[in-house]
Amino acid sequence: MEVGILALQGDVAEHASALRDVGVKPRPVRVPGDLTALAGIVLPGGESTTMSLLLGSSGLVGPLAEEIASGLPAFGTCAGMILLASSILDGKPDQLAFGAIDLSVRRNGFGRQLDSFERDIEVAGLGDGPVHAVFIRAPLVESVGAHVEVLGRLGDGGSPVLCREGGILVSAFHPELTPDRRLHRMFVSIIEERGR
Ligand code: GLN
Repeated sequence: MEVGILALQGDVAEHASALRDVGVKPRPVRVPGDLTALAGIVLPGGESTTMSLLLGSSGLVGPLAEEIASGLPAFGTCAGMILLASSILDGKPDQLAFGAIDLSVRRNGFGRQLDSFERDIEVAGLGDGPVHAVFIRAPLVESVGAHVEVLGRLGDGGSPVLCREGGILVSAFHPELTPDRRLHRMFVSIIEERGR
């Protein structure tokens, strides 16, 4: 199985090794031709406004939007979550949102004091204990649509930090920065379940 990683900016190498660890061949995606016959795609952490500009200049916006709309499973982490959301608060006015998952996110929504932090997150349906999650200038999920499953929250009743809708999985944190591969494995199961 070959899974793309949007490789315009951000922590591409970390996702590539996480995908290899779960038995998947990673393929960097830089131009529209790189999207051919992918089983899924990862949108990494980094800077969503920069990625948004580079998506425009690389010609990827339209082709990637079409792939996602036609069911390509996608895993967005941090900046990737922002790109996949349906609405962005505190973004740049022309910043791109693929609208792949019905979420409203606030960029850098945890404020200065919580710029970066780590927390253990209980994830629904995942055995072997909580996921140790690294947050770096993370987006704050302010609202979720009726069809979005919230799989993890920041503490009991806290804000959603891991969500899924159909073939789209998003995390406000960076699972690629820790050795725990359970969420990359979860994404592969989502791909398999959706028959890609
Ligand atoms: N704050 C960044 C943004 O707006 C996201 C940070 C990250 O991916 N670690 O895109």
